[in-house]
Formats: sequence, structure tokens, C-alpha cells
Amino acid sequence: MKHLSAEEIISYVTMDEMNEASLGFCKNVTGHIRGCSACLGKLRKYLDIHDVYKTQNPGGDFKAFATELLQEESPVTMDMN
Ligand SMILES: [Zn+2]
Repeated sequence: MKHLSAEEIISYVTMDEMNEASLGFCKNVTGHIRGCSACLGKLRKYLDIHDVYKTQNPGGDFKAFATELLQEESPVTMDMN
């Protein structure tokens, strides 16, 4: 099974409108994470980061922020206090 890419995870986390295309995408993502704890963990991490980011940067561009994070080699960490 192909794992979710970081881009797919970010698209899922930042999805703000439901249409036919995004619905199919959502089904793929949820279907995959149901059987893959690695991707589920990654998705949860990005959801947490998204929450913190939105609190600290209302109206900020999370997609750009997360994409920048992805370009770093080290695992994503963020001060969550
Ligand atoms: Zn996976």
C-alpha cells in the first residue's frame, strides 16, 4: 500500500470545503489511516500543529508554513505549551 505523502496530509488538514473531488480524496485518506498507524500518527501531528498555528496566526497561511516545515530534514517539532 502506498503511504500518504506529506503533501496529501497537509491537503487533508487544510481542507476547508467539501466538493466531489475532496470527498473522494477524504475517503482515500481515511481509508488508509484506518489501516496504517504510521500515517495516522503523522496526520495527528499535523492536525496538532495546525491547531497551534491557527491559534497563534489567525488568518495565516498554514499550507505555506507546513510546506516549509516539510523541507527540513529533521522530524517536525513545535513548542506545544
Ligand atoms: Zn501509510
